[in-house]
Amino acid sequence: MVDFIERNIRGIYERISSAARKSGRDPSEIRLMAVSKTHAIESMISAASIVDIFGENRVQEAVAKKRDWPTEDRVPWHLIGHLQRNKARKALEIFDLIESLDSLDLARMLDRILAETEQSGFPVFIEVNMSGEPTKCGVAPQEAANLMDMVLNYCTRLSIEGIMTIGPNIADETMIRRTFEDARELRDTLRSTSGLPLPELSMGMSGDFEAAVEEGSTIVRIGSGIFGKRSACTE
Ligand SMILES: *Cc1c(COP(=O)(O)O)cnc(C)c1O
Repeated sequence: MVDFIERNIRGIYERISSAARKSGRDPSEIRLMAVSKTHAIESMISAASIVDIFGENRVQEAVAKKRDWPTEDRVPWHLIGHLQRNKARKALEIFDLIESLDSLDLARMLDRILAETEQSGFPVFIEVNMSGEPTKCGVAPQEAANLMDMVLNYCTRLSIEGIMTIGPNIADETMIRRTFEDARELRDTLRSTSGLPLPELSMGMSGDFEAAVEEGSTIVRIGSGIFGKRSACTE
């Protein structure tokens, strides 16, 4: 048991609650994802009984961790990193939800594999690059409706449940908040154009999750705020 991890998580929950109350939301609407990329299984186990979701960026890393996981695993695992098509099959096997759907090609590949294995209703989020930063994955906001439409029509074994976005890598808090607000408005627009309920809005990381909660986030993705800094060479 790694003590500081539990303490960190309690602290994050408290900050989620006060951000929620500040904006008139019920704190129970917000789930906490522990982003465990690069961190050891021992650290994850300390978090497993108190977080809502694990998030991993890479399929290979998650495969190895799942293989070594010592106990029954009650927490759902979400993929939050870019998925290459040649890892799509493995990703569908080990993740409960893919938050990083960012192209029609990938959606088609996932759909084809689900058809082969006679599965359907696999939950995904569309990743949207709200800030337009070229280093970020995700579709441009103006392309999101089209991708959603295509997936609804041609990839019927996928179930789109929301959108995921990464806040801009800037210091200006007003701009960060505006980006989250834009993401929520985009989700609301997509909801009315697609007719899907789209309940989930995955946004907010260690440095900006309170603003994200105030703007409507339903899943915050916290890595360093729970597990400490990642070693520089792994990113
Ligand atoms: C690494 C990562 C996070 C967590 O970042 P922290 O700043 O460590 O909280 C959240 N979302 C995505 C997509 C990530 O890659």
